[in-house]
Amino acid sequence: MGDGTGLRYVLFAQGCPHCCEGCHNPETHDPAGGYDATAEELLLDIGRNPLLTGVTFSGGEPMLQARALLPLAEAIRARGKSLWVYTGYLWEEILQNAEHRALAELCDVVVDGPFDIKRKTPLLPFRGSENQRVIAVRESLAKGEAVEMMMGREHRYEKNEAYSPGPPI
Ligand code: SF4
Repeated sequence: MGDGTGLRYVLFAQGCPHCCEGCHNPETHDPAGGYDATAEELLLDIGRNPLLTGVTFSGGEPMLQARALLPLAEAIRARGKSLWVYTGYLWEEILQNAEHRALAELCDVVVDGPFDIKRKTPLLPFRGSENQRVIAVRESLAKGEAVEMMMGREHRYEKNEAYSPGPPI
């Protein structure tokens, strides 16, 4: 499972309330763990690699820090980088929370839902279990429902459909 297309800077937000069995980042669960960094410090670090395609907010649960991440997300977009977020919340839940929605609206892609160890699969790109969706944000907002995508194309996944490479986002 990758954290998005191309060469990406992955930011692991600290703190997660979802308690998914088999989580691969248990060290990120404690909201008192991790370390503090300002948006300016993170932007400097991101800027050190001009080859980066984009940035991915992972965790942990990035939506817990949605308000703090907004200026960073705006700056990343202003620099022409793509932005993905991995969240344990469902797309439909995100839309009901103003701060979560504001962060999601700045993203190109939201990978949603908790990790379900019973539906774990190595076959689907960019996600750990079948229940998780790779959601194209702009298309979903325009259509008024979650639209899943495959490598730069809006696409409704058929279950276990084979990975098909396409152009970078
Ligand atoms: S949402 Fe992600 S980080 Fe949080 S417990 Fe589930 S798999 Fe782990």
